[in-house]
Amino acid sequence: MKEFTDKQTAALAAMVDPDRFSTGQSNRELHLHDISFHQGTLPAGIVWPVSTEEVGRVMAWAYANEVPVTPWGAGTSTEGNPVPTRGGLVVDLTRMNRVLEIRPQDLQADVQPGLLRKELNRQAGRHGLFFPPDPGADATIGGMIANNASGVQTVKYGATKDYVMRLTVVLPGGRVIHTGNKAPKSSAGFDLTRLFVGSEGTLGIVTEATLKLTGIPSHYLAATIRFPDLEKASQAVALLIGAGLGPAALELLPPGLIHLMNAEKGLGLPEVPSLFCEFHAVSETALKETSHLARELCEECGAVGFNDATEERARKELWRARHEAWETIHRAHPKKETLIVDAAVPISRYPEMVVFSQNEVDTRNAIGYVFGHAGDGNLHVVLVGDPADKAEWGALETINRVIVERAIGLGGTCTGEHGVGIGKRKFMQLEHGDSYELMKQIKQLVDPKGLMNPGKIF
Ligand SMILES: Cc1cc2nc3c(=O)[nH]c(=O)nc-3n(C[C@H](O)[C@H](O)[C@H](O)COP(=O)(O)OP(=O)(O)OC[C@H]3O[C@@H](n4cnc5c(N)ncnc54)[C@H](O)[C@@H]3O)c2cc1C
Repeated sequence: MKEFTDKQTAALAAMVDPDRFSTGQSNRELHLHDISFHQGTLPAGIVWPVSTEEVGRVMAWAYANEVPVTPWGAGTSTEGNPVPTRGGLVVDLTRMNRVLEIRPQDLQADVQPGLLRKELNRQAGRHGLFFPPDPGADATIGGMIANNASGVQTVKYGATKDYVMRLTVVLPGGRVIHTGNKAPKSSAGFDLTRLFVGSEGTLGIVTEATLKLTGIPSHYLAATIRFPDLEKASQAVALLIGAGLGPAALELLPPGLIHLMNAEKGLGLPEVPSLFCEFHAVSETALKETSHLARELCEECGAVGFNDATEERARKELWRARHEAWETIHRAHPKKETLIVDAAVPISRYPEMVVFSQNEVDTRNAIGYVFGHAGDGNLHVVLVGDPADKAEWGALETINRVIVERAIGLGGTCTGEHGVGIGKRKFMQLEHGDSYELMKQIKQLVDPKGLMNPGKIF
């Protein structure tokens, strides 16, 4: 669907305040791209609802009129997840951005889906609490739930799915349902909350969520550990986790990426294969003991250097640089696009995955940076090239494919955290086999007309 008819425009405009529906070209273009190279189809209009009731009305109208609907959070996805593929209506949730209630004694917050993660943490922080899932970007809670986002702290604290207790969801057609409850545990039937987490807006629109929060740790320590090669660095990962040290972050970084970070941010880090780690503890003594043990274990794996950063500013600079790795790569290669590999494997297979991926990049003479959330077995390879150059981009797609196939072959997944979107659809059958058919049947049951975020996952 390219444009709304006058009648459709009038119907939508009547549902919300005048400044909350637009068919303007610039608004439509702003909702055509996430951060990836994936191409979509210009939406015919954008609506910014402010309540579950409004979302319900819009969804009922869209279904009756056979209009495709794509939910939109902050648009920071990497696989085309919020990019409309059939035009239609984009439902932008960013004006539903309030913390409704924080219940510190229960460690819970009720929030709207357009709330930004950092704002939630700012408000929860007043109670000594935080919401740990941490994709580098300042994403919305709705987008994080829909993608089951995670990040550097997942190795200790878990992914978004571990923090979602209750959801209010508007289904295609406008029916409103509530899933889950506020108890810390429940065995009451199917876990519908988890069905919607990671469903990428293909089953409905989340309009409210109850999230778990956790206490802000009192003592932190960041460490950079240097190794002679990437394989030794990645071998230390399973050891650090297996020893029960419980790192709060465990990231693998290659020399090429550290070089770009140094050049941009003046970090002065040695440009060798490294692990960036963080430990959280209840006391300075516990932190020192953990750090001492981590150092010994890494030395057993051939580490050649270990630096602690207990000072708050140094720690923050280190993690800011890591969080901005993708932007740093982009800025270092202006006019190029990136194809981001996001495979994950059991941690015992991580070293061979790292070596295999680096080898693929090298033998195909590609520009690529192999790094990742090593503690989760999650490997990112940021491949750099020009989609218009068929040979160059084709080689990057081959690298992506062989790495993903290897990861799935090792019992892993085509996407550790970024979601399926447009880019990973082609691997779904290989990864899920006969259970992919059941996913399709669930989709068909909930969205028989196939209008919710069409072209994603399936
Ligand atoms: C620099 C950078 C670093 C990143 N690092 C990480 C990382 O470490 N880990 C990680 O997991 N991700 C990472 N990401 C990816 C991205 O930030 C996450 O996937 C995030 O969850 C997307 O949230 P968003 O608000 O931008 O959602 P969008 O991109 O707008 O949407 C994401 C999906 O959610 C759907 N959606 C949005 N709101 C709703 C709703 N209310 N109900 C139903 N469906 C909805 C959309 O249709 C879409 O399918 C990174 C991105 C960037 C730019």
